[in-house]
Amino acid sequence: MPTTDNFRIEDTDVPQLNDGEVLVRTLYLSVDPYMRSRMNDRKSYVPPFKLNEPIVGGAVGEVVESRSPSFTKGDIVTGMLSWRLYSAAKAEELHKIDPKIAPITTALNILGIPGLTAYFGLLDICNPQPDETVVVSGAAGAVGTAVCQIAKIKGCRVVGIAGSDDKNAYLKNELQVDATINYKTEDVRQALANACPKGVDVYFDNVGGDVSDAALLLINKGARISICGQISMYNLERMDVGLRPQPLLLVNSAMMKGFIVIDYAPRFAEGVTQLGKWLAAGKLKYAENIVEGFENAPRAFLGLFAGENLGKQLVKVAE
Ligand code: NAP
Repeated sequence: MPTTDNFRIEDTDVPQLNDGEVLVRTLYLSVDPYMRSRMNDRKSYVPPFKLNEPIVGGAVGEVVESRSPSFTKGDIVTGMLSWRLYSAAKAEELHKIDPKIAPITTALNILGIPGLTAYFGLLDICNPQPDETVVVSGAAGAVGTAVCQIAKIKGCRVVGIAGSDDKNAYLKNELQVDATINYKTEDVRQALANACPKGVDVYFDNVGGDVSDAALLLINKGARISICGQISMYNLERMDVGLRPQPLLLVNSAMMKGFIVIDYAPRFAEGVTQLGKWLAAGKLKYAENIVEGFENAPRAFLGLFAGENLGKQLVKVAE
């Protein structure tokens, strides 16, 4: 488990712009579980962070100076930015967002990577059908809350697994999730069996570990399992060994598939359009947990591993 000692804040000059670049004043930073994987020097789908260089992550900011015809002062933009108060960014790596359509933080939440991850990871991989049972782990997080709601839109019976009673009350009362389990206080295998009397048709896995073993033991014939995240393992020094799922997949003709949301980049416009329509129609809600102050970004990031967030964890850097 990292600590705040793994982070350092430094004063530097505001960067000078080259042609084609834009100076962005950071407004919100996104802290994400995958950033933990970038703190290990091992092969992954993105290279590790470099020591003594700023962390890079999803952010929303305001253009304060532009040397690109695509952006003017005052534009609100999103993109992968350094954790800095002011960043020089290449214009082609930024997207303009319209604050009149939805609050700007939604670009890092339901209309951004978490929403798109839920949309493609559930619909493309699992193709959920009405009345099927969909189990979602990490159900009260940024991705999980979106998955639960999209599964409800598709007419499924949704069972959410999260780490606190307050989170589960939100899932039930605000998002109409049919049943919930607190994996920290309940016997997950027993509770899940009770909550899924007809077995599990779809499992959307955000966490891995024992919680996922419990879901896998209940899969039905033709089940689809989407491997989105394995947060319970991100801080392990050695991979743990749990259930070996192959026999369950075999006898149930079931399918388990991992994905990285960037695989779907060519279809992001489709996803954002549909998520935007559901949001405008009141069919999708989103929650955000906002920590104030640039200097608190490391603490907000570490809080993800203690379950401090309901919905998307963000850091508000400036107005
Ligand atoms: P999030 O769910 O908003 O935040 C992380 C949550 O994980 C915490 O609030 C905590 O909730 C739970 N958690 C932490 N440690 C845990 C543990 N040991 N066991 C079980 N649950 C634990 O984060 P997110 O951004 O929506 O991401 C959710 C998952 O999706 C992560 O695994 C992430 O890596 C993955 N992801 C994948 C993609 C992709 O392209 N495949 C894209 C985005 C995110 P509780 O209170 O419930 O413990």
